Amino acid sequence: MEIEIATIGGYEEVGRQMTAVRAGNDVVIFDMGLNLSQVLIHDNVETERMHSLDLIDMGAIPDDRIMSDLEGDVQAIVPTHGHLDHIGAISKLAHRYDAPVVATPFTIELVKQQIESEQKFGVENDLVKMDPGESMTIGDHGCELEFVNVTHSIIDAINPVLHTPEGAIVYGLDKRMDHTPVIGDPIDMKRFREIGREGEGVLCYIEDCTNANKKGRTPSENVAREHLRDVLYSIEDYDGGIVATTFSSHIARVKSLVEFADDIGRQPVLLGRSMEKYSGTAERLDFIDFPSDLGMFGHRKSVDRTFKRIMNEGKENFLPVVTGHQGEPRAMLTRMARGETPYELDDGDKVVFSARVIPEPTNEGQRYQAEKLLGMQGARIYDDIHVSGHLNQEGHYAMLDALQPQHIVPAHQDLKGLSGYVKLCEGEGYHMGRDVHVSRNGNLIQLVD
Ligand SMILES: [Zn+2]
Repeated sequence: MEIEIATIGGYEEVGRQMTAVRAGNDVVIFDMGLNLSQVLIHDNVETERMHSLDLIDMGAIPDDRIMSDLEGDVQAIVPTHGHLDHIGAISKLAHRYDAPVVATPFTIELVKQQIESEQKFGVENDLVKMDPGESMTIGDHGCELEFVNVTHSIIDAINPVLHTPEGAIVYGLDKRMDHTPVIGDPIDMKRFREIGREGEGVLCYIEDCTNANKKGRTPSENVAREHLRDVLYSIEDYDGGIVATTFSSHIARVKSLVEFADDIGRQPVLLGRSMEKYSGTAERLDFIDFPSDLGMFGHRKSVDRTFKRIMNEGKENFLPVVTGHQGEPRAMLTRMARGETPYELDDGDKVVFSARVIPEPTNEGQRYQAEKLLGMQGARIYDDIHVSGHLNQEGHYAMLDALQPQHIVPAHQDLKGLSGYVKLCEGEGYHMGRDVHVSRNGNLIQLVD
């Protein structure tokens, strides 16, 4: 059976991930993501109303025109998890394929919400839920799609595996090797080891190289949780304002913040549109059981009403968890820093960033600005209370050891970012150009003729 891989997006950048695998006549697409930074550098761009071709020209979504060179039928579109760089282009591209979107329940729910807010295209692909650990048949030629449970900075993340008669294709984006996650099951390394040994073994491993230049091991989410506990408990006696911010989609982190707020005698409240969206969705789908009186407010009016209540009843009784950890100009924390909300910061108030600055000039500039403005109001900053969602080098070694792949395709980085991974693979006996295939957006890699 011919096996071919199309590296469509995310091979020259972090963002707009998309890869297609053809096994004989059957094609499976993994991820259809958005590169948000390519959108945000333009003022007031509303992607909901934009045409795919314009977004492709901006470099915001994958240029999928190479799909016409792939001779087969798309059988499934498989996003690995709900981050925008993996699902953000589904509403712009999926309708061009006569295939269902297959993903875990939380991811499917986020895809559904995105399709509902789309204003340019009618996206009518079936949305099919499949849980981690489950499999489904793909096409009529002996291929099977399996979801292996992994751990990442969003719940319900999986690595899909396409089992073909020539061996397994393991799509490894995005994960960290977490044996003690705060929500959900640990990464299923046992299953990866089995896949590496059974049948024809692993024909190809497509890997998330985000942190491939970082030594050592990415800590568990439990480490970030204990760090956060240490910080919040240390300011338990403070009788002024404490505000926290983190990734809205990081439900495990939001859970820790909510619990520790309660521990130090403050009422937690989630503020900001995306805070309400992700936490509300996770609660509706029973991934988390927040206290019944936890307030979540997204709309401007209800947020301002909540801030007024906090100011009336005393800042020392509350812990607002807000959007804006990257200093995004329109996010809640930035509005608070500019004095645009009823919440007034005083000298000595604490602002806890449970996030790392995404190392990109726009983010760095905006975050610098937000911190400066907060500082001008007297706020004191705690930052970097965070662990990455991606494997460092030791995790990469462990994955190669478990899977023993014949071929490797590094992904989810630019050339510089991929370099650490190529070097690591060569140390393990692979060779670039022979069995390590460094690709670009829009390339085809023929693995089996
Ligand atoms: Zn991700």
